[in-house]
Amino acid sequence: MDFALPLWVLVTSIYFGSILPDLDHPGSTIGKRLLFISIPLGGLFGHRQITHSIWPFVITLWIMSGDMGSIPVMFACMIGYASHLIADFVSDGGVPLFWPSQKRVGIKLCSSGGVVEPLIAISMLVLAIIF
Ligand SMILES: [Zn+2]
Repeated sequence: MDFALPLWVLVTSIYFGSILPDLDHPGSTIGKRLLFISIPLGGLFGHRQITHSIWPFVITLWIMSGDMGSIPVMFACMIGYASHLIADFVSDGGVPLFWPSQKRVGIKLCSSGGVVEPLIAISMLVLAIIF
């Protein structure tokens, strides 16, 4: 089985995964484009709730266990998804990793939209390029 992906598919999958957690916010990049999902999802759960927990990973692993052909793309999406949760983990409020528990986990290193946020994002990008 060949798990190699063309670079553009890999980058697109990681990018898609990185914006997917904010599908619960109608004002987010992906939420604006998929209002028919973001409005009910945000209304039902609120922002930074179930989409910012371990459940998307559990569901994806369960799906991947039944369809080996989708593993490389889904794995790339999960890398992007994880990067989003890590970014929210180090910004305001943390993430409710064990939703429905409302206990948020995180280490506040920066504020969303603050001065430090782009520095961390650029550092992560440089690390991603190196590795
Ligand atoms: Zn988020």
